Amino acid sequence: MTTAALTPEAEGSPVVHSAVSAVAAALRTAESVVLLAHSNPDADALGSALALGLHLRSRGTKVWVSFDRPAEIPLSLRTLPGQELIVTPSDLPVDAQLVVSVDVGARQRLGHLIDLFDAAPVSICIDHHASNPGFGQIQLIDPSAAANVMLVVEVLDEMQAEITADIAANLYAGLATDTANFRFATAPSHLLAARLIAAGTEPQSLMRPIMDTHPFRWLAMLSCALKSATLLPEVAHGAGMVWVKVSEADSDGLRMEDLDSIIDIVRTTGEAEIAAVFKETAPLMWQVSLRAKTTFDVGRAATELGGGGHPRSAGYSFSGNVESLLAELMSVLQSVEPAR
Ligand code: MN
Repeated sequence: MTTAALTPEAEGSPVVHSAVSAVAAALRTAESVVLLAHSNPDADALGSALALGLHLRSRGTKVWVSFDRPAEIPLSLRTLPGQELIVTPSDLPVDAQLVVSVDVGARQRLGHLIDLFDAAPVSICIDHHASNPGFGQIQLIDPSAAANVMLVVEVLDEMQAEITADIAANLYAGLATDTANFRFATAPSHLLAARLIAAGTEPQSLMRPIMDTHPFRWLAMLSCALKSATLLPEVAHGAGMVWVKVSEADSDGLRMEDLDSIIDIVRTTGEAEIAAVFKETAPLMWQVSLRAKTTFDVGRAATELGGGGHPRSAGYSFSGNVESLLAELMSVLQSVEPAR
């Protein structure tokens, strides 16, 4: 079996190209393919899976898309084309020839579906998280990709796939989401965006439900959350951190996906390099989101705390009270050297 693992420096290298070729060759020959997004999928994960799934279906391949949690498709992602490919984990075949994980930075982010992935005759990992330790038989892992869909489009091009309007919409949704609406976009991301719009994507109507829509209840939750905002100028060698917490009671009636955008408001604080949001998912259970602006590698901090992510965007889970969460986080941030 071909294994082509990549390093962060490998953009555009023969190693990346050989991994793209290996993935395309495996997808071309498989008769049945399961595509897995990470738990609590975002548009980059589900868009990657659906874009590949739609092309495979057009080739006559049997294809299924799934993720471990939540039980239902996130409301904000229900307008992505190809929803009919999505099945609950219990409806997945156990004998698919190929199982592919997309945008999954670590084995545990597959949840229970890691068993299906491990049992597959051929397993493929397509991912762009810097913290990915590498898993699966064929690995296309490139942290220089601004979004996982950038890697998916390389695979589709290698397969000489036609980028239909439906495939383009899925790719665009992932690209816009992971670049925070092109704030972190690179030249290749803008070139891809132009190509996808030319293929039929209408950015405004596509992205409104994904990035710009919340239930009315969201405003009250946000108001409670922002009241807890605390600025700690000394944290991380004086770079400063601002944090807010969202209690389970405040987020009652809202979904996890509704809480994901809080960090985008908190991270605009001028006095802090680092932004953190502590989301209570169950009594004394927290999901922590971290963002950095320019100098700090929160991905390394999150990895040390049992999570992972990208240098400027990462997360982890914690069980305990807020005081101990904060103490542990501050001590780890203090131990991470600021980047040059
Ligand atoms: Mn991603």
